[in-house]
Amino acid sequence: MKKNRQRCLASCQCDQTAVEVTGAPIVSAVCYCENCRAAGHAFERSDGAPRTVGADGGTEYCLYRKDLVTVIRGSEYLQEHRLTPDSAVRRVLATCCNTPMFLDFTPGHWLSVYRSRLPAAAQPLQMRVNTSERPEGVRLPDDIPNFPDYSPGFMIRLLLSWAAMGFRRPKVVW
Ligand SMILES: [Zn+2]
Ligand SMILES: [Zn+2]
Repeated sequence: MKKNRQRCLASCQCDQTAVEVTGAPIVSAVCYCENCRAAGHAFERSDGAPRTVGADGGTEYCLYRKDLVTVIRGSEYLQEHRLTPDSAVRRVLATCCNTPMFLDFTPGHWLSVYRSRLPAAAQPLQMRVNTSERPEGVRLPDDIPNFPDYSPGFMIRLLLSWAAMGFRRPKVVW
């Protein structure tokens, strides 16, 4: 497999906060789970916040290995939000301009960067996951695979990337 070590930046709207990611994402996917939607809509109520939830209720992410992600500026603006205090999932907002930056499943080895933060050419979407939780009445096209929960392909990509990391679980700190 050809190694892609290209770097790119996930930046907030005002550009004061940026996260550098290296290489191709593990996978890029749209998540239709209710938690992503609830959190996204809550963020969208803040002043000047960008939309993160699509018209069809999906939230687009590119997943990167945590060891290939670095907060390079604006760390002082980052603020984590959890839907419940004991949730293992934190969504992190750049408070300089209320831009959601990434989702961190804290025990996991990957970081889910909101795809809209990345350059448009960064990565085409590969699949839709958790489509069983999409809003009622939403019909999804079949241009990319749709999965009712997390697909085997999604899980295998995560597992392979973890093996490549030597099964380490780095923490994202800033
Ligand atoms: Zn900003
Ligand atoms: Zn989700």
